[in-house]
Amino acid sequence: MTQKQNVVVSETKSKVMAQNKSLGGGYISITRRSILKNLEINNGRVNGWIESIRASSPTHSSLSQNKTSWILHHPSALDMFDQIMEASKGKQIVMFLDYDGTLSPIVDDPNRAYMSNSMRKTVRKLARCFPTAIVTGRCKDKVYNFVRLAELYYAGSHGLDIKGPTRTSKYNKDRKSETLLFQPATYFLPMIHRVYQQLVDKTKPIPGAMVENNKFCVSVHFRCVDEKKWSELAQQVKSVLKDYPKLRLTQGRKVLEIRPTIKWDKGKALEFLLESLGLANCKDVFPVYIGDDRSDEDAFKKLRDRGQGFGILVSKFPKETSALYSLQEPNEVMDFLQRLVEWKKV
Ligand SMILES: [Mg+2]
Repeated sequence: MTQKQNVVVSETKSKVMAQNKSLGGGYISITRRSILKNLEINNGRVNGWIESIRASSPTHSSLSQNKTSWILHHPSALDMFDQIMEASKGKQIVMFLDYDGTLSPIVDDPNRAYMSNSMRKTVRKLARCFPTAIVTGRCKDKVYNFVRLAELYYAGSHGLDIKGPTRTSKYNKDRKSETLLFQPATYFLPMIHRVYQQLVDKTKPIPGAMVENNKFCVSVHFRCVDEKKWSELAQQVKSVLKDYPKLRLTQGRKVLEIRPTIKWDKGKALEFLLESLGLANCKDVFPVYIGDDRSDEDAFKKLRDRGQGFGILVSKFPKETSALYSLQEPNEVMDFLQRLVEWKKV
């Protein structure tokens, strides 16, 4: 990973798809390093950063014509269901679910990103069949208030705040009293709180900007900010962060994420959870991770590197991803989870 202007981008694997008509409507990849280089040449790092957001935005319609070729590389997990179950035969399936955009629709107000009752029922049934974890950038307690299922594992703040089930299930009956708790970044708590307050002050003049305190990280949402104001917002965020070399800035779906520089992400959280389930060194484990955002790529990549299970990207639009399969939206996620439950019953 390389750090420029506190914006962290992956040099090797992170690529942005671009149209290439000479390849029959297929897509080519441009590394973000070359994009960054262009930005420097144009002396417009912020403008380039905004371009990068547009390129990764799921509403970027110019990429939609490449969908057919993208789907060939990342087929629907619903269409591939039988093959998936065949591959998992004799293995312990473990489910990892992102929250926003995966279990709940993306909405303008992140405080109102509710999941449907039918989704909750499905996840409850899923957790009876397989160990199930919610892995999110949100504050753990906040996501718990949305999900309200005590039998799940929760990894909040991009995995910096992990808690085991508080209700006994067949996967944790051995440790009734000792609830798993892991917080590798407590040292950063006062710093995160300070930076949160400064970001609230600095972004106040920008209509639509919303700063969310996720306890071990901070999100600056700009879904409701006029595109003309994006660069101003980015400048304000950067002006705060220049005094915090121990914090880094990453971007997700219309959100800037400020987190500690420690080497911890959703992929590491996945590994930690497998370990605490006693499955980390087990050959017969089949982890499935479903997520929609860039931060989920760390988990998708982890599964690729481990050669176990796979990732499913939730997206209606072609995106560069390490996930093997795709689903279009939370409704399809629910269908997939439902089929898993039915398969397990049979
Ligand atoms: Mg998400």
